[in-house]
Amino acid sequence: LSEKLQRAFKNLRGQGTITEENIGEALREIRVALLEADVNLGVVKELIEHIREKAVGQQVMTALSPTEQVVKIVNDELIAILGKDTARFNFASRPPTVILMAGLQGSGKTTTSGKLAAWLQKGGHRPMLVSVDVYRPAAREQLKIVAGSIKANLYEGDLKGENPGPDLVERLAREARRDAVNSGCDTLIVDTAGRLALDDDLMKEMERLKKLLAPQEILFVADAMTGQDAVNSADAFHKRLALTGVVLTKMDGDARGGAALSIRHVTGQPIKFIGTGERPDAFEAFHPDRIVSRILGMGDIMSLIERAEEKLDKKKSEEFAKKALSGDGFSLEDFRDQLRQIRKLGSLQSIMKMLPSIGPFQGIQQMADQVDENQFVRVEAIINSMTKKERNNHEIISGSRRKRIARGSGTSVQEVNQLLKQYVQMRKMFKTVGAGGGKLQRSLMGQ
Ligand code: GDP
Ligand code: MG
Repeated sequence: LSEKLQRAFKNLRGQGTITEENIGEALREIRVALLEADVNLGVVKELIEHIREKAVGQQVMTALSPTEQVVKIVNDELIAILGKDTARFNFASRPPTVILMAGLQGSGKTTTSGKLAAWLQKGGHRPMLVSVDVYRPAAREQLKIVAGSIKANLYEGDLKGENPGPDLVERLAREARRDAVNSGCDTLIVDTAGRLALDDDLMKEMERLKKLLAPQEILFVADAMTGQDAVNSADAFHKRLALTGVVLTKMDGDARGGAALSIRHVTGQPIKFIGTGERPDAFEAFHPDRIVSRILGMGDIMSLIERAEEKLDKKKSEEFAKKALSGDGFSLEDFRDQLRQIRKLGSLQSIMKMLPSIGPFQGIQQMADQVDENQFVRVEAIINSMTKKERNNHEIISGSRRKRIARGSGTSVQEVNQLLKQYVQMRKMFKTVGAGGGKLQRSLMGQ
């Protein structure tokens, strides 16, 4: 995807101005890139026309290179579709605020209900969760577990052997709202049943819930990996329910995020959040500008930086960098600390996937697929099996010590040797960089 774009941009490079002729090829590539990112065909067509008009119209006045110019236009157009700012969440002027979760089965409604509750808790709210999926006992049980894990209030209710159906659904919803008010909760998140495909019964049930609860938010939960399907169902749900926003889940996977563009375009409703993993905290406000660079294959550096800043002990990282770049080098103990910090960010794979697939990072996405997470667990086990003295001075780690460390960590002497070798190489590399005064940094920036 991004390679194609790059090639297209390379062809533009070195040409003084953008003409109908030389932009044609770039536009073809952009078109392919967008389609590959799962953007709906109708949306792609519109976009390309806009971009063409703008690009050719701008040719005389700009000081940018043609490449920069086209990148900027594509970027601006995509952001224009997605809306410039992060969308606001609607709260009721008089609590409780009711949030109705909609979407197909497996899209992530139950998981997202929990994430949303955790997000509200973080913002000082007191959410209550209720599942009105009366058709599958496991679904209600799942929400109970989710609620327990984040210590959120849950209205369980009593099915009283009543037949599963819209009447029971309504009763539970009504009771839950009453219980929320009585127990001082200011938000009620209603997790609903999903079907594998759209069906009329489901829609009718949702319509009745909407009428009963008059929710401030009707969030459509869409699996970003399902691309076009998500777009079609978003359209159908919006026509029946008038959605107020979208949550795009499973953005930690391979999804390029094209669904975000299409869903926004088709429904006109903003993407409010994205899900980036299975855990309750794998949830972020949606930033249009970041998804755009992801769609274009430039990586999601901003999100990565933010995540890193939130979770990493900045001072520790700085200390590590300083030590690593200095003449003394870093110890195996420092190395282990650093490893632990990195793992706090999530799986290494998901981190690598967020890096751009250009320049020095070319090929890193493929590498990410081959990363063996177990390897890191083993490395840590090996370092754990060393004494503090050994960790702070690797040179004393003799043959017999290596044998002991291998036994203690459940690894082999070869693995211990390999780790030590890599450590020494890494240390050397950092020191060289430190002595070079930021040369590497410049080369990483492609200058
Ligand atoms: P529901 O049927 O719509 O309620 O969907 P669930 O909440 O049960 O989620 C279906 C599956 O998707 C579960 O295995 C979740 O763990 C998983 N899932 C949900 N959101 C995400 C996400 O953002 N990232 C990943 N990787 N998995 C997710
Ligand atoms: Mg569910």
